[in-house]
Amino acid sequence: MNTELRNDTDFWMPFTDNRAFKAQPRLLASAKDMHYFTPDGRGILDGTAGLWCVNAGHARPKIVEAIQKQAGILDYGPAFQLGHPLAFELAGRVAHLMPQGLDRIFFTNSGSEAVDTALKMAFAYQRAIGQGTRTRLVGRERGYHGAGFGGLSVGGLVNNRRSFVQLPCVSHLPHTLNIGKAAFSRGQPQWGAHLADELERIVALNGAETIAAVIVEPLAGSAGVLVPPSGYLERLRNITRKHGILLIFDEVITAFGRLGAATASELFGVVPDLITLAKGMTNAAVPMGAVAAKRHIYDAVVDNAQPGIEFFHGYTYSGHPLACAAGLATLDVYAEDGLFERARDLSPYWEHALHSLRGRRHVIDIRNLGLVAAIELEPREHAPGSRAMEAFHACFDGGLLIRVTGDVIALSPPLIVEMKHIDEIVERLTEVLEGLD
Ligand code: PLP
Repeated sequence: MNTELRNDTDFWMPFTDNRAFKAQPRLLASAKDMHYFTPDGRGILDGTAGLWCVNAGHARPKIVEAIQKQAGILDYGPAFQLGHPLAFELAGRVAHLMPQGLDRIFFTNSGSEAVDTALKMAFAYQRAIGQGTRTRLVGRERGYHGAGFGGLSVGGLVNNRRSFVQLPCVSHLPHTLNIGKAAFSRGQPQWGAHLADELERIVALNGAETIAAVIVEPLAGSAGVLVPPSGYLERLRNITRKHGILLIFDEVITAFGRLGAATASELFGVVPDLITLAKGMTNAAVPMGAVAAKRHIYDAVVDNAQPGIEFFHGYTYSGHPLACAAGLATLDVYAEDGLFERARDLSPYWEHALHSLRGRRHVIDIRNLGLVAAIELEPREHAPGSRAMEAFHACFDGGLLIRVTGDVIALSPPLIVEMKHIDEIVERLTEVLEGLD
């Protein structure tokens, strides 16, 4: 394989330092189970399940075969006014994994599309029940809800927002990370539930009758792993219910076993009105996302519409046959291998192993839940983010894939991870941290 990259290569890479990458490329040529392999055959232990998505590990034969077979049966069928059986079957299987009542499944092709779809559903529902004045959305600082205009508007990451026009009428809750009060919490921090009450202030300022929905990640991943404080999500649920505001959980990362349960909603015992999904749904083998909606939301939008199309929204590839085949095979693998339970059972070992890095150079916080963890490093005075980026490069060169956001190292291995892999991750990180200035 030719691994040389021309300086003027045609590929404009997403969320990438294009100049640095093209000067010094890091290419992945293949993958199997817990490892990536570089073009020269070097194994890289996958500490991040790709981008939080390859929950069953790489190139699982059942998923590979399902995709190959489906490509020869029905490669594509129009998604509007026509359907194919696998989409109905997968909707049923996904609904079965959702909390009770969220059993109407709308397919998209990514998490970003799932978020924008859920926001539109919220508006459509409020209008359908005579609450058309509810045109405001509430997101949260440090939230990541994808790269669409809806998602970036409710999201709370300045670099993703500052260059682009945003939706009007969006308010933001404060984020819940406070290293001063809750550093090195194991699992859910005890401090911070009161931050949900900020929603009451937003309601008082704008009027409940103007707010359609609140969207949060139950556990925020991309912005550096923010574990919800004990009681926080429950409070958000109570306040939204009281004011007729829909609650959307963005579970693009947290669903399909990442936290040791089918959804974060199930783990925390808090049921939102809409859940966004993607990533683990197909083990990332074919792009796919979805929104799971409460049945009464579907009923209100559909039953109150004029005859004809009820919801003017969808994508050419919604419920794509290859994605459906991958999704069905993926859900089989999760069930056959008991991967959600495996994640739950391994999480104490994971927690213990990661927290053993406390006291290492530059480490100012470690946080974890399920098979997710973050190690936050002290930023360099004039170069925030550079220390973690160096760690990323050193880990990659040493055979470990980590993910960094700012000065946070985030870890989320495939759920097939074994104790020996966890030990290897910790050993490699120990070496790398000691080598950083
Ligand atoms: N929502 C959350 C919580 C995410 O973490 C992500 C991606 O990381 C997205 C939405 C966007 O998903 P995608 O990149 O598939 O559009």
